[in-house]
Amino acid sequence: MTDTIFSKIVRREIPADIVYEDDEVLAFRDLNPQAPVHLLFIPKRPLATLDDAAAGDAELLGKLLLAAAAYAKREGFAGQGYRTVINCNEDGGQTVYHLHVHLLAGRRMHWPPG
Ligand code: C5P
Repeated sequence: MTDTIFSKIVRREIPADIVYEDDEVLAFRDLNPQAPVHLLFIPKRPLATLDDAAAGDAELLGKLLLAAAAYAKREGFAGQGYRTVINCNEDGGQTVYHLHVHLLAGRRMHWPPG
């Protein structure tokens, strides 16, 4: 896959407001937040889209979701609720082709999304 702005954030080549990091996962605040809390959880090892994920990526995908859930729990959003989203390709609204899990919290979400 081609390099994206998110890989540059992983390599600290451009700044980001990083809120969580471990060996495989990085999370930072979305620059254009759609909720009072809007974070992006990304794998450090880039994967372009969910469509590109294979069986060997199952553990990594699980770690992204668990990292988002742990953050929500730590910050007190688990009881009230929050939303996680993975946009995939053009019709899914994906704009950055480095797979990411959005974590949105701090307001009531609506369904269906736009
Ligand atoms: O799911 P999608 O690909 O549309 O999400 C990309 C997200 O990355 C957007 O919410 C956008 O605001 C965010 N973004 C960012 N920092 C950048 C470029 C994009 O937070 N430098």
